[in-house]
Amino acid sequence: MADTALMPIPGPLDPVPVAREITPRADGRLDLLGLTRKQIAELFEAAGLDSRQAKLRAKQVFHWLYHRGVTGFEAMTDIAKTMRPWLAERFVIGRPEVVEAQHSSDGTRKWLLRTADGHDFEMVFIPDADRGTLCVSSQVGCTLNCRFCHTGTMRLVRNLTPGEIVGQVMLARDALGEWPNSSSRARPGTAGDLARASRDAPAVPDRVRDDDQDEDGEYTADGRLLTNIVMMGMGEPLYNFDNVRDALKIVMDGDGLALSKRRITLSTSGVVPMMARCGEEIGTNLAVSLHATNKEVRDEIVPLNRKYGLEELLEACAAYPGASNARRITFEYVMLKDKNDSDEDARELVRLIKRYKLPAKVNLIPFNPWPGAPYECSTPERVRRFSEIVFEAGISAPVRTPRGRDIDAACGQLKTAAGKKSRAELDRLAAEKQAALG
Ligand code: SAH
Ligand code: SF4
Repeated sequence: MADTALMPIPGPLDPVPVAREITPRADGRLDLLGLTRKQIAELFEAAGLDSRQAKLRAKQVFHWLYHRGVTGFEAMTDIAKTMRPWLAERFVIGRPEVVEAQHSSDGTRKWLLRTADGHDFEMVFIPDADRGTLCVSSQVGCTLNCRFCHTGTMRLVRNLTPGEIVGQVMLARDALGEWPNSSSRARPGTAGDLARASRDAPAVPDRVRDDDQDEDGEYTADGRLLTNIVMMGMGEPLYNFDNVRDALKIVMDGDGLALSKRRITLSTSGVVPMMARCGEEIGTNLAVSLHATNKEVRDEIVPLNRKYGLEELLEACAAYPGASNARRITFEYVMLKDKNDSDEDARELVRLIKRYKLPAKVNLIPFNPWPGAPYECSTPERVRRFSEIVFEAGISAPVRTPRGRDIDAACGQLKTAAGKKSRAELDRLAAEKQAALG
């Protein structure tokens, strides 16, 4: 049951009212997914345990939840047998519901997920030879209306909670069979078939999977399929700062999922006032959706630019805590035919990076068109030439290969939910949203 009260969250110019993110369960039990040790301890204390017990049990439960990936209290063997039903009566360990799971011929997988109150969002896993990247959503929809982005045409429904954000990572581990004990791999109700399929994934040699346990049977970091996370799914993560921070802290916790901050990248369209806090309080790598080198074009394709302009944005990048030559800021640049893809644009991009002395790399993303999109992708020759100009100036500028095209899986255009709507419906939603934004 969703609480229908509204809360304001920032839009490109003014706040937008969206539904609050409170979704109590009908059976009254509380979902522990997405909670910190401290929050779990507080709930245990409120349920009647004394403070010392509550802390101890919370530590154990945290480990089972995030390190072992269990979804039931019965499996928690170091907790007294009599205590486990007591926990199960009061708490659950949830997962987002899987509505649909798709597997591309190139190994990319996409999941359509559903929140407890019935909102759909997406997650994508992209395996490569040396890494496996999970593309995670932070909101259902987005307020920012970037003109080339399909998510931008959807209505913002609400922020995802920490549980729904961490839940994506947990679900991916379920599906990939990557929890440290084998019994969790075959857990009914999760994607056991996907786990098996993952072992056939062509991108990861069998050898890697065989080597990935140490002598205690624990997984070691380098054998994993899921090695990296990018906050590049639906939504603007810095407009859901607290939940994204809390979720990523859990993902990075050494006693839990234990992903290194160096393997996590948060992508923002340029929410300048939140960037310093992102560096200080989250500390992950930063990617900035730049996409243009002058005000006119950026105002058009990333409307947030009218609020936080290029200079402010690049100054915030220069001041980003933790950026260095070893940890560069990634500038994402979507290649739009005759819009932002000229030689002059490439040279201006280089000038900007040098003027602000930015430790930067550039990620060139071929535009992935969607029905009714107002742009086309640049030609392959144009993309190559653009990349060469940036590269010749000493800045890395790889072209991101489109993945999972057969299942529409590329990050940033997760679109199953809207893909089922007609163009007219999309236009109406976009117009409605624009009107709401003033
Ligand atoms: N809201 C954040 C993160 C999600 S978008 C942001 O904008 O950075 C992740 C990336 O995909 C962004 O760089 C976005 O600009 C890009 N993207 C969105 N739609 C795209 C499309 N149709 N083709 C190629 N890249 C796209
Ligand atoms: Fe939102 Fe990012 Fe899409 Fe822009 S590119 S509309 S910020 S999801």
